Amino acid sequence: MRASDEFPGSDLIYALPDPYLILSPDLIIVDASHAYLKATFTTREQIIGKHIFEAFPDNPDASDANATKNVRASLEEVLRTRKPHVMALQHYDVPKPGGGFEVKYWQPSHIPVLNSMGEVICIMQKAMDVTNEVRMQRQAERSNELAILSEEKHQELLRVIEAIPQMAWTTLPDGEATYFNEYWYKYTGKTFQQSKSSGWKALVHPDDIDEVIKKWTHSLRNGRSYEQEMRFYRSSDQKYHWHLTRANPIHDKQGRISLWVITATDIDEQKLSNERKDEFISIASHELKTPLTSALAYTQLISRNIEPDGDPALKKYTAKTETYLSRLNQLISGLLDVSRINSGKLQFNIVEFDFSVLVNECIENMQMLSSAHKIIRKDSLKTLVVKADKQRIEQVLINYLSNAVKYSPGNEEIGVSVELQGDCVQVGISDLGIGIAPDKLNKVFNRFYRAEDFSHHFTGLGIGLFIVKEIITRHGGKVWVESRLGKGSTFYFSIPLVASS
Ligand code: ADP
Repeated sequence: MRASDEFPGSDLIYALPDPYLILSPDLIIVDASHAYLKATFTTREQIIGKHIFEAFPDNPDASDANATKNVRASLEEVLRTRKPHVMALQHYDVPKPGGGFEVKYWQPSHIPVLNSMGEVICIMQKAMDVTNEVRMQRQAERSNELAILSEEKHQELLRVIEAIPQMAWTTLPDGEATYFNEYWYKYTGKTFQQSKSSGWKALVHPDDIDEVIKKWTHSLRNGRSYEQEMRFYRSSDQKYHWHLTRANPIHDKQGRISLWVITATDIDEQKLSNERKDEFISIASHELKTPLTSALAYTQLISRNIEPDGDPALKKYTAKTETYLSRLNQLISGLLDVSRINSGKLQFNIVEFDFSVLVNECIENMQMLSSAHKIIRKDSLKTLVVKADKQRIEQVLINYLSNAVKYSPGNEEIGVSVELQGDCVQVGISDLGIGIAPDKLNKVFNRFYRAEDFSHHFTGLGIGLFIVKEIITRHGGKVWVESRLGKGSTFYFSIPLVASS
């Protein structure tokens, strides 16, 4: 149907001062006023003959925009009741000629045009573009919020921000910077105009900026605190320096975020000293490994060459030397793993093996080394084929088991359970030992971390669980622990049956 066939003159429609769209009863666009075309960046040729939602789809990036659903419901009501319908304010973005969408707010209404028999021949959509009004209203709301805050706390907050000896600034809920402290200006050498909007992005190291924008956008969206290490440009030496940047939201009385406070602490020294330590550990463990491997091989040769009826004392001493050298070898292998993890060089060799059998082998080995404990397999899973790095998974199991033994002196029972959960296998190793305090639980998987309370009674470097976590996460799995101080712990890990590594 052409508008001119059944509907009063097109010229009249074109000239209507407000945005009008004429739709057939099956929602095909028949005509539009000049004002409509202007507001939607379209031409008559582009939209006539198209279904309304083909010409104007929802913006996939606007999570709160569900206007096509609402407009469809309104049009269906008009077709059913043959009465005009006025819609509530709609967020309905329009496609831009060069790609993407233009944010738009509309006040639409639908008016049916009936023929002499009372049938709908077309629907007129009047769509008032109220984007500017909505923007102004939102701005007014925002400055009201700020005004409320500024009266009570804003000045005080700014004084605190000014006093702290590190870079600090504030932003609006959408991330737009509103205030930088004096330290910021001194450090970056930039003015407010140069720093606001996207200006600050130029001060972050190019290798860090993508990750920073990703995480910061995520925090702004879900209102959660933000923490990230990044390099900021210092104007005095024209170099980038490592900072730990933290952002926390401040909420108003209604619980809405009224602003963000952000601080950046210089951690350059700490980072460099950690790098030097890592380098030292890497070199030292490599250098120690070679003579140690030879010493271990020679001791094994000596013990093999002692006659069966040879000196029992000699046999005992060589066996002890071998045990201590093996322990030293394990420690150095652990340190080597840590430096491999730090340099991203931990290699995996994915093979198919029976997980259940491996668990039993590890239990047997551990049982031989520690006769004081009783290690009990709690599940009845006989066989379970997985695809993973067998040696590394063995390392994880041995680590959990030897910790369970080490940290439960005098409490002999250790339980091991293997469960199939969907397409993952989950292992839990429980002991009735010293346990871990709640505030330390989430730290035990950190590098060189040792829970202080009792662990000085036990030997160790605090790297075993760090390596475990790396191995398991690289397999696409996760690690966690449940524990009660003085009562015991259960360390868990779960990996997909087919490793994603
Ligand atoms: P290490 O045992 O060499 O110190 P790990 O990385 O294996 O290093 O463990 C880190 C810390 O976690 C230990 O120092 C100890 O404080 C705590 N921990 C690990 N396993 C247990 C356990 N089964 N019971 C109690 N504490 C444990």
